[in-house]
Amino acid sequence: MSTVPVIKFASSPHRIYGSRRVVIKIGSALLVDKKSGLVRTGWMESLAVDLNCLRHAGVEVLIVSSGAIALGCRRLGINHIRSKIKARQPTAAIGQIILAHAYQEVMFRHDITTAQILLSTDNTEQRKLHLYLRSTINDLLALGVVPVINENDTVSTTGFRFGDNDRLGARLAQLANADTLIILSDIDGLYTADPRSNSTAHHIPEVKCITSEIEAMAGDAGSNYTSGGMITKLAAAKIAATIGCRTVISNGLEPNPIYRIDNGARCTWFHEFASSLTTRKRWIASSLDPRGQLILDAGALDALIAGKSLLPAGVIEVVGTFERGDVVTLHAPDGALCGRGLISYASHDARQIAGLKSCEIETILGYCSSDEIVHRNDLVLIACSIPK
Ligand code: GLU
Repeated sequence: MSTVPVIKFASSPHRIYGSRRVVIKIGSALLVDKKSGLVRTGWMESLAVDLNCLRHAGVEVLIVSSGAIALGCRRLGINHIRSKIKARQPTAAIGQIILAHAYQEVMFRHDITTAQILLSTDNTEQRKLHLYLRSTINDLLALGVVPVINENDTVSTTGFRFGDNDRLGARLAQLANADTLIILSDIDGLYTADPRSNSTAHHIPEVKCITSEIEAMAGDAGSNYTSGGMITKLAAAKIAATIGCRTVISNGLEPNPIYRIDNGARCTWFHEFASSLTTRKRWIASSLDPRGQLILDAGALDALIAGKSLLPAGVIEVVGTFERGDVVTLHAPDGALCGRGLISYASHDARQIAGLKSCEIETILGYCSSDEIVHRNDLVLIACSIPK
């Protein structure tokens, strides 16, 4: 068992011990020993020590844990990377029980009660189910329990899955109203380029706003420089920022990963935006499953920035297939993401009324459920993406 660290409050304004509620996302590389393929229980013991320090400081903790597929693959002697897609469902079933067993055994030794929650996209993306899940998580936290959450990879199918636990972590930060998202990975944060292939890459300790320049640093999908990919980590940090939650990406491979962050370990902190969004708007802002896109003209974008609703007249193009009430993303004329909203018309109808005046809707469609294509009460602008 690891030694109990003496917790000193770091002088940095970036510290976890001042948080109220944190989501800790733990990547597979930290949980699964490369050589043996077994759970790194020694490391998990050190995490339990850190969790108790947090809990004693009044910080509530949710864990989003990967590792099921990697553990299942190792148990079957399958190459994790090559067989990732084909063997995902059965290996996750095998690995998840190993993972849950390890959490239960280790955390129990530290007097921490854990609870397993396995999620499908419906549980977070359908508003009603989302509210049930939120209430269960709040009940568990009120009981002093640490929820250990993962995607239910065994039943999720392509097209209806989170796919990565980084964005799931951000979604849960929104759901649980957390103020800090901690992404523990096998890399110590964001670099200007992939440090494993580019010797001139330098580390970025702090990001105030995730601009397109920052996003470009994560490389493209084929050049991800962590096992889970920097792209999904930035996407998670962006979602979290929008809902008023800061994010830290840190290398968690060494023992006591939380203690290390607060005591000067190299990592990247992403600032949150001051967010006065209602809980419903936070849900819209952090949706992981937008069904379509609306490309807006410059006048419509100005109107949204001025706090108005989106009218069909301001829509240049409608992309995708969606139903009334689905989440769609809103884009500037150059395609830059500017916001998200709940759409008032299904894609077939939205296409027909795009560019028209609201008074023409009834003539074209034979009904008019709303003058607005996205009402301002159902709309969230994403600050960093709005062109100056
Ligand atoms: N849910 C996957 C697992 O447990 C991991 C997904 C991820 O690492 O982002 O293996």
